[in-house]
Amino acid sequence: MPELPEVETIRRIVARELTGLALRRVDLTLPKLVRDSPLPDLDLLVGRVVRGADRRAKVLVTHWSGGLSVLTHFKLAGQLAVMKPDGRRIVAGHPVPRPDGVYPHKATHLTFQFADGTIVYYSDIRQFGWWRLMATDAVAPALAAFRFGPEGTGGLGLDRDELAGRLQRRRMAVKQVLLDQRVVAGLGNIYVDEALHRARIHPGRAANSIAGEELSALHEAIGWALERGIEQGGAAIRAGKAYPRDGFPAVHGRKDEPCAVCATAIVKMTLGGRGTYVCPVCQPEPVAST
Ligand SMILES: [Zn+2]
Repeated sequence: MPELPEVETIRRIVARELTGLALRRVDLTLPKLVRDSPLPDLDLLVGRVVRGADRRAKVLVTHWSGGLSVLTHFKLAGQLAVMKPDGRRIVAGHPVPRPDGVYPHKATHLTFQFADGTIVYYSDIRQFGWWRLMATDAVAPALAAFRFGPEGTGGLGLDRDELAGRLQRRRMAVKQVLLDQRVVAGLGNIYVDEALHRARIHPGRAANSIAGEELSALHEAIGWALERGIEQGGAAIRAGKAYPRDGFPAVHGRKDEPCAVCATAIVKMTLGGRGTYVCPVCQPEPVAST
């Protein structure tokens, strides 16, 4: 569930709340979280200071003093909770554990204690997330190995013609192509549904059938959906149900609710194994071609 907007939200929290703090202690209770890690021991971070945070696609990159960096992927259910010594708590990522509940939760597997009293809990009810510690010099090649496509957010590189080229080479359903991180980095299930609804394109359309004005609309809609998500600090979806704020998400998680554009009931379907939401009027089904 943490998609690009959720990870960008976490990045901003880390940059704002943790930069300049020295780590006093780290406790890892689920060793498999730190897998395929060039430096396997997170204790190397003790005594170091957080220098800042970057993001590429859905990977958070945290920089520490002394030339170390950490890559974190939140996968399906990662959550970061920051507890400040003044009592503030800032929680982002998956909605479980409950942000207002008791920490550490039974799904909390990694705890960072900072010298000023700040505590950070990483929880992951699915345990698919991962943490990798490496020299800062190793970050660029490690990220390059993922072969991420351009970022889908405004100003970060996905230009219309590049999107066109990437879609025109593929006959698969456009939704599945957009979920491929090598095509557009950072789009996930929620934001693809939102972008396709805004662009009035059925998710089952062949990717290479989208051109001209439709392609322009889709290009605009991808940036719009991700920016909306970032503005909101991540979409609120719990147990498959949307809790929209200001009408967003407009379709994802809103089965049987009226389309905001035409009032037709939103339909849920399965595409490539993923729950997919469409307005049957705004997003007409593709006509079978011969
Ligand atoms: Zn509609």
